[in-house]
Amino acid sequence: MTQPQDDPQDGPRATGDETAEPGHAPPAAGPTDWSASGFSTRAIHAGSEPDPQTGAVVPSVHVATTFAQDGVGGLRAGYEYSRSANPTRDALQECLAALEGGRAGFAFASGLAAEDALLRAVLVPGDHVVIPDDAYGGTFRLISKVLARWGVEHTAVDLSDPSAVAAATTDRTRLVWCETPTNPLLGIADVSALARVAHGAGALLAVDSTFATPYLQQALSLGADVVVHSTTKYCGGHSDVVGGALVVGDAVAPGGEPLAELLAFHQNAMGAVAGPFDAWLVLRGLKTLAVRMERHCDSAERVAAHLEAHPAVREVLYPGLPGHPGHDVAARQMRRFGGMVSVRLADEAAALELCSSTRVFTLAESLGGVESLVEHPARMTHASAAGSPLEVPADLVRLSVGLEEVEDLLADLDQALEGAAPA
Ligand SMILES: *Cc1c(COP(=O)(O)O)cnc(C)c1O
Repeated sequence: MTQPQDDPQDGPRATGDETAEPGHAPPAAGPTDWSASGFSTRAIHAGSEPDPQTGAVVPSVHVATTFAQDGVGGLRAGYEYSRSANPTRDALQECLAALEGGRAGFAFASGLAAEDALLRAVLVPGDHVVIPDDAYGGTFRLISKVLARWGVEHTAVDLSDPSAVAAATTDRTRLVWCETPTNPLLGIADVSALARVAHGAGALLAVDSTFATPYLQQALSLGADVVVHSTTKYCGGHSDVVGGALVVGDAVAPGGEPLAELLAFHQNAMGAVAGPFDAWLVLRGLKTLAVRMERHCDSAERVAAHLEAHPAVREVLYPGLPGHPGHDVAARQMRRFGGMVSVRLADEAAALELCSSTRVFTLAESLGGVESLVEHPARMTHASAAGSPLEVPADLVRLSVGLEEVEDLLADLDQALEGAAPA
C-alpha cells in the first residue's frame, strides 16, 4: 500500500525490515501492497504486517512520546516525536487509506478534530463553503459558530439537488461539504454529481461517510477529494473510543499543494492527533467492519420494513426502502443501505415516549456500536441546530440498529410502541 504520509519531516519511512506477505521469506523492501485484495483482506492486513522482530501478528500500542536518535537527525525508523508520527497511528492510517482506496489517511482525536483540521487547512478568511441543510449538528456548529469567527462563510442547501448546490456556489466557494447518508434524516446525495458541480466551481468535495463507512461507500472513487469519518461510530464499532479520520487521493488544494501534504502538515501543526491506544482500538474495530456492517444492514432492513407497517409510525426514513427519494442513487453508490433508521411519529410526545420505553435499545447519543441505541435528535444530538436551516423535526426518533438478535429488537420496538396513538 502507499505510504500514509509524504512529508519528509514527519512521515514514516519504509524501513526495509518490514516483512512482505506473511509466510514469505526473505523480507521484501517494504510493506505488502494489498491494494488488489478484497475489502476484508485489506481491513485485516493493511497496516498490520507481523512485527519483523517478534512476529507479533497485530501492531503494538506504541506509547512512547519520543524516539532515540543515532546522532542528531539519525532516526531509526523515521520516528522522532509521537505528535508528528507514531507507529500505532501509522498502522491505522495505512489501513484507512487502503480501505478507502486513498493515497493517505490521517487519524485524529475525534471526528470534529478531523473536520477542523480539514476546514482550516483548506479555507482562508473570505472563503465560502456549501453545506448540507441536513447534517451532523456538530459539523454545522463548527462551521457556523467557529469557522464563521475566522471569516469563513457558508450556505446551507439541499444536497440531494445538485442544481441547488451549483446555484449556491460563488467565486469564493472553495469547498462543498457533503454528508451521505445524512445524520439524522438519512438523506442521500449523489456524490458523482456533486463532484462535477464542486469541481466545475473550482471547489473541493469533502464527503462525510460516517454512516456509510468505507465498506458501504467508496467516496474517493465516486469523485470526492477527501473522505471524513467519525471513527467513533462504525469504524471503532464498540462504543469505546472517540476518533476521527480523513482520507485523500491525489487531489490538489486551492493553493496548488497536494491535499495529502497539506493535511500532513496541519495534522502535525494543529496537533489533534489520535492517541496510540485510541488508534489501536479503531484499527481493531476496522478488522471486523465488513461482517459487522452486513449484520447491521440485515437487521436495519428488517427494522425498517417492520416499522413501515406499524400504525403508530408516520414515516420510516431508510434509503433501503424503495419509496425513499434517494433509493436509486443509494443503490448505485452504496453496497447496502446501512444500519441507521429514523422514524417520524404522530408528534413530539410520541417520539419522547418511544425513546423512553425501549429496553433493548438504550437511550443514548452516538451510533454504530454493537448495542442498539435510540435517541431524540431535536433535543439531543441536533439541539445545537435549533432555529437554523438544519433544525430537525421534533417528532423524529433515530435508531442505531445494533448486533443483538433482530427478533429481540423488533419485539422491543413493538412493546415500546404499544398503546401509541396511530400516526
Ligand atoms: C458523530 C459524527 C461526527 C462527529 O464525530 P465525533 O467523533 O463525535 O467528533 C461527524 N459526522 C457524523 C455524521 C457523525 O455522526
